[in-house]
Amino acid sequence: MIATLCSGRRDLGSEGAEPLGEVEMDVSRRCSKCGQSLKGYASTLFVSVFAPSEAFTICGRCAAEDHAKSLVSLAEADHIIEETTENLEELDELIKKCPQMPPLPEGLESIAVTPLSVYRTLQAYLAAFKSRRMEIIAEMESEQRLQYQIQKAVEAEDYELAAELDKQRRREE
Ligand SMILES: [Zn+2]
Repeated sequence: MIATLCSGRRDLGSEGAEPLGEVEMDVSRRCSKCGQSLKGYASTLFVSVFAPSEAFTICGRCAAEDHAKSLVSLAEADHIIEETTENLEELDELIKKCPQMPPLPEGLESIAVTPLSVYRTLQAYLAAFKSRRMEIIAEMESEQRLQYQIQKAVEAEDYELAAELDKQRRREE
């Protein structure tokens, strides 16, 4: 994945963020944010047209963390977890059908987007979303959380669970 930024530089605000100098493939093998190898993950190369020498690459793990941080509600987290799980299942089917990966051009292994690297990246997204979901739940009031769970149970037509949760809600009142 290659993204071109039309505006100026982006401040990474983290250690290990080093300008890549000339945009060469062999210097973009590490994530500009966490410094980890890009190999095996779908990464994004950001190139600014105004400062091409300041190109930087963000690995799939860091992109997942960033996306997860932007989630604010439990409904939002549940929705994206469901969506990501479905995408993973579809990709899993695809990989099972064509397990043989095409050979990659030399020097491009670290940045090539392959079904496997996308799969691994989606797994990183799912893990980040799930842990963000736990954080959101921990920050919620118990009443608010039960209310949401009751609503979800009703939507899923699990009235037994809804009644059970409602009892719990009353007890806590
Ligand atoms: Zn990273």
